[in-house]
Amino acid sequence: MPELSPTDAAIATNLGRIRDRIAEACLRANRNPASVTLVAVSKTHPAAAVAAALACGQTVFGENRVQEAAAKFPDLRLGHPALRLHLIGPLQTNKARDAVRIADVIESLDRPKLALALREAMVKEARQPSFLIQVNIGDEPQKAGIARAEADAFIRACREEHGLPVTGLMCIPPVEGDPRPHFAALAAMAARHGLTTLSMGMSGDFEAAIAEGATHIRVGTAIFGGRPAPA
Ligand SMILES: *Cc1c(COP(=O)(O)O)cnc(C)c1O
Repeated sequence: MPELSPTDAAIATNLGRIRDRIAEACLRANRNPASVTLVAVSKTHPAAAVAAALACGQTVFGENRVQEAAAKFPDLRLGHPALRLHLIGPLQTNKARDAVRIADVIESLDRPKLALALREAMVKEARQPSFLIQVNIGDEPQKAGIARAEADAFIRACREEHGLPVTGLMCIPPVEGDPRPHFAALAAMAARHGLTTLSMGMSGDFEAAIAEGATHIRVGTAIFGGRPAPA
């Protein structure tokens, strides 16, 4: 596998640049930079890259595969009690228990079967991460997330029937076109439900997401460099 991870110094420089860009985007949107949490997406990058980011004061990380996160993070947590791990990738029900064991936030709750599996996992593990519901905001057939038309009912069911601690919504807008209307739609949906966490915006569009109210942005490439193409 090619070595795509940048050096520790490059990670420090990249993090500094992202923080500056967050501050500028907040200034333009008349928002407090402290209201935006940077989730550093470390998927495919080695634990050493996470350690380099931790050394720069970055404490919140995102991974999209349970197995990879379970291999990387328990050791990193030992010396860093403030570390918070978000799972941001599509989650199979048979991984629910591992996910609940290792994650602080699960951002990809998107179907009733998974809600049931997560509830059961929380009881078995006696552990309670918080949850974001992933909405397929562009209603794209190939994408994870609950369909827009079903989202309101699903959000209510997760909270009222399944008793899951849902704090907000997450989306990945279509690659093509202006993401802002999609971010605005997610923000409006969250507001309807009194949900305050909005995870939206990645390396290519986080400034637009901040303008539309993102409280969490998920940035990988702009911090850790490129990733090998998925096999
Ligand atoms: C990989 C990933 C990101 C980070 O994407 P970049 O373009 O590398 O910043 C954000 N969110 C999700 C759900 C991802 O899978």
